Amino acid sequence: MLKDRRKRTIIRLREAEMSYKAIARKVKCGETTVRRCCHNAEQVEDGIPNALSVPSCESHCRQCGKELILIPGKRKKLYCSKKCRRRRYE
Ligand SMILES: [Zn+2]
Repeated sequence: MLKDRRKRTIIRLREAEMSYKAIARKVKCGETTVRRCCHNAEQVEDGIPNALSVPSCESHCRQCGKELILIPGKRKKLYCSKKCRRRRYE
């Protein structure tokens, strides 16, 4: 696992349009690690703003967009099925 600080450095360099190889050299880790780190960061960026923009009174599956039926008193669901949830984290 990469340290958060190093991860942020990688993401920052990537935003500056540096190549994976150049970033890997700079932070002294493998190119694969850099690639994976950037990929994860993109997924996080995709997920969080969406979650914040969805009003709390309604809910849609984050994977397929299907409307979710909320049961009062139950924990809010993020996905319509286990299948969607699993796909999201693959
Ligand atoms: Zn779904």
